[in-house]
Amino acid sequence: MITRFLLRMRFFTVCLPGGGLYVPAQTVDMRQFFLYMDSDTTYPELVATVAPVLLQGELNPFSASRVAESAFNFEPDLQQLDEGLSVLNLYNGPTGVFKDFGIAFLAAVMEELLKNSSPAMVLSATRGDTGVSIANAFNNREGITSVLLYPSGHIRGLESASFVPKGGNIIPIQVKGTFDDCQRLIMATINDLPFAERYGVTSANAINPGRLLPQTFYYLYAFIKIKKQLHGDLVFSVPSGNFGNLIAGLYAWKFGMPVNGFIAAMNANDAFGDYIQGEKFIPRPLINTNSPALDVSIPSNYERLASFYEEAPAVMRNMVYPAAIDDETTLKTMEQAWKKYNIILDPHSAVAFAAAEQLRNSRDFDGHIHTVVLATAHPAKEAALVTKATGQTVEIPRRLRMLQKKVDPIAIIDPQLDALEGAIASCL
Ligand SMILES: *Cc1c(COP(=O)(O)O)cnc(C)c1O
Repeated sequence: MITRFLLRMRFFTVCLPGGGLYVPAQTVDMRQFFLYMDSDTTYPELVATVAPVLLQGELNPFSASRVAESAFNFEPDLQQLDEGLSVLNLYNGPTGVFKDFGIAFLAAVMEELLKNSSPAMVLSATRGDTGVSIANAFNNREGITSVLLYPSGHIRGLESASFVPKGGNIIPIQVKGTFDDCQRLIMATINDLPFAERYGVTSANAINPGRLLPQTFYYLYAFIKIKKQLHGDLVFSVPSGNFGNLIAGLYAWKFGMPVNGFIAAMNANDAFGDYIQGEKFIPRPLINTNSPALDVSIPSNYERLASFYEEAPAVMRNMVYPAAIDDETTLKTMEQAWKKYNIILDPHSAVAFAAAEQLRNSRDFDGHIHTVVLATAHPAKEAALVTKATGQTVEIPRRLRMLQKKVDPIAIIDPQLDALEGAIASCL
């Protein structure tokens, strides 16, 4: 089903040798589609225009605007701070994290593309909010069942009314084991062809191109909002862990977005910076920091990034600048951003903000470079840390408070394939 789904999207069908990661098979020039757009263009309008170009021949303009409308009742928000600095707030989605943008689009586009064909089942594993975001994005999507596996412990933020026995389409299953057991079970289910074919099994993990490509849309959106104010270089600063977000930016550039560089903003886990600077990538042990989504030792998009470097190493050296920001600087940056600009940053966004400030101070800054900092999480996600750094209390929006509520699974299973398949089958 994965291949069937991906084959439908011809765009995604090149598989890297050994890596198994899909990258766009052809380069699309989208300039003619977005260069005439300006700050009046809404996010759904942009998505409806650009998505059919990306999914060539698969999504007609009418379907695309249905998908855009049904995916996005939230928008990126570009906030210009001064002549050389903006923040692109990407945390207004249902779980307060930028990943909502990719997930929401994937759910909506799958529903649209699967219309009039056999039903599908999306499997995901989670130990935190992302899986919940996936399950919720597929909630009420016609023809799709969403199975969520999580390791021993509690899951939060789902409504039991949306579970299969109650007439919904979500099946949360607790696995007596680890997160890795959950992922292994998903792979085993996908490889069990009779079962996978019968239920149309696919997965929605972070390296799924159906989640990655829609992340290019908000880069284009930031560009059309800021382009009239640009007098020189445009740079994006991206808090990077598994490097999906940065890769999406690079795709936007490949598709024709005029941009001069990307800052790969990392925390103390910055071994990948060596690779970006042309050295060999030697992973280092993980360090726990106050920006945990960036605590990654081997980025899962490594092969995708490597394919850019193999194609044009010299170009890439001038395109991506690595930066490493320690915890102390992160907190200091949160404080300074509040004092200077009256904005509240979460620690991940602060890493990117600090890296942007470093770049602007390191060059002979003359106002001719504009940096857009990607703010990837709502400050309320790390409310205590925000208060510590800024002295401000953050109000937790209702949708994020909902995510605190514990729910019970539909089944608790041993980490075995037959147990999983039995639990799924007994619900349907
Ligand atoms: C996932 C995440 C990141 C890192 O994004 P990658 O695509 O993995 O590089 C940054 N910030 C937050 C808040 C995240 O949840």
